[in-house]
Amino acid sequence: MNNEADVIVVGGGPGGMAAALEAANNGSSVILIEADTQIGGNAARSTGYLAFQNFDMQAKEGIDDSADIFVQDMVAEISRQSEKYGITFDEELAWLFSEESSTTYSWLCDLGFEFNRFLPRPKQHSVNRMVDVKDTTMFTYLFEEALSAAGVEVITETRVRRLLTVNNSVAGVETETETYMANRGVLLATGGYQANPQIRIKYQPEVMASTPYLGTEHDVGDGHIMGLSVGGDLINMTMIPPLIMVGSALVEESVAVNLEGERFHDEAGPYDYRVDQLARQTDRLAWYIFDDRAFRTKKQLIDEMPEEPISDLTLQGLADKLGCNGEILNHCVGEWNSLVASAEPKDPKFGRVIFPDPRIGIVEPPFHASRMIVGINFPAGGFRVSSDMQVLNVYGEPIPNLFAVGDCTGGLGPVIGMGGMRITPALTLGRIAGRKIATGTNFKEVRKGGQSRLPENQMRIPVVDETN
Ligand SMILES: Cc1cc2nc3c(=O)[nH]c(=O)nc-3n(C[C@H](O)[C@H](O)[C@H](O)COP(=O)(O)OP(=O)(O)OC[C@H]3O[C@@H](n4cnc5c(N)ncnc54)[C@H](O)[C@@H]3O)c2cc1C
Repeated sequence: MNNEADVIVVGGGPGGMAAALEAANNGSSVILIEADTQIGGNAARSTGYLAFQNFDMQAKEGIDDSADIFVQDMVAEISRQSEKYGITFDEELAWLFSEESSTTYSWLCDLGFEFNRFLPRPKQHSVNRMVDVKDTTMFTYLFEEALSAAGVEVITETRVRRLLTVNNSVAGVETETETYMANRGVLLATGGYQANPQIRIKYQPEVMASTPYLGTEHDVGDGHIMGLSVGGDLINMTMIPPLIMVGSALVEESVAVNLEGERFHDEAGPYDYRVDQLARQTDRLAWYIFDDRAFRTKKQLIDEMPEEPISDLTLQGLADKLGCNGEILNHCVGEWNSLVASAEPKDPKFGRVIFPDPRIGIVEPPFHASRMIVGINFPAGGFRVSSDMQVLNVYGEPIPNLFAVGDCTGGLGPVIGMGGMRITPALTLGRIAGRKIATGTNFKEVRKGGQSRLPENQMRIPVVDETN
């Protein structure tokens, strides 16, 4: 085994995989070290909603989108979230991401990715731009093939614990047993800190710090700690939004009912709205109701839920087990099934626009109920980075040879509520980072302050330089 490469990538989620592939395809030798048994990270466990602008699925439907519109949507989301959290939003990174996102779409298609359909989120994406990957295991097997073809050495079941520095420059990493040296740079792509209650308690109220999270147990903030140890500046760490613990693809197939057996909200609406609506129900109790077809096809997402579903052969039997009125539940599911069977694009009761695909209702017994449980969404906090994804210190200066992407970075994290805004930025900015480390960009450029590129009359959020 060779313990030296041009680039060492720590973490094999979408950010790390994209960076490793681009670095290798631009002439660098690359070692990717992954703690889990296989690569794919949380993307392989996800619903697989990805947001792009100006890509061929939009063109086919005549959808007019642009980097400007995409960034404006992000700024509007930040403005909503700023009522709840202190946010540092990196508008430059938002531009970079949105401009490059269309290339990420074709890049993924070239790797063999396929997409199903648009998932509208009109309250946050002003045009249809979020689509779902046909099969999220593609994040593992398609990248395994591509990385192997590009000559990337992938080491699994190995946790990186420390960064090595030489003359204040990051020079390699240490695992429990080995040292790996990097000639051109180390890229932190270890995901978030959601699986680490000790880190969360520093930034969250105690009652929230041990609530459930989604995804891999390996995302314990190792990258955050390693980058911090060499002076990286962490931003947005307190934004750890509450979330109902359910994969969006399961929501597509379900209705949520309360103790009265009635629907009470747009199940596919904004994440924070769902949390608020649940809080208003009797005893804060409600369940996602789905049938056995959904149970079989969405099994992976059901297994991710914090509790086992309750099941029964009939809706009446299910209602008895939940303690809600069977007649009302039957009527509610019947009403939903008629709506699904119709060609109606919008639910007249709550404005829901996301329906099962194909449009099949909750019909196949046994029926299942998964309790709506509040946990956390992916934290927004991570490193402040340059437009080369180089980690910045508190003075806004780049730390030599240290890079970060994906959930390890903080500047775009706060747009998470829009949907589809984690995997695509990780892939897109990962590609940029990989290419830039490999081709040796001028890393001297230091970004301090900055001007919004949105026109005067549009909402803008200044890039903050805390050291002023
Ligand atoms: C159920 C679910 C649904 C989701 N749905 C969506 C969605 O529809 N759209 C969307 O955009 N996002 C979604 N997400 C979130 C998305 O998957 C993540 O935000 C995204 O994968 C982050 O990418 P990343 O590369 O930064 O990190 P991750 O995908 O988290 O990967 C990090 C990798 O680093 C490894 N690692 C951690 N520490 C170490 C270490 N010390 N040494 C070596 N390796 C380490 C981990 O094992 C992991 O493989 C969902 C996630 C889940 C779990």
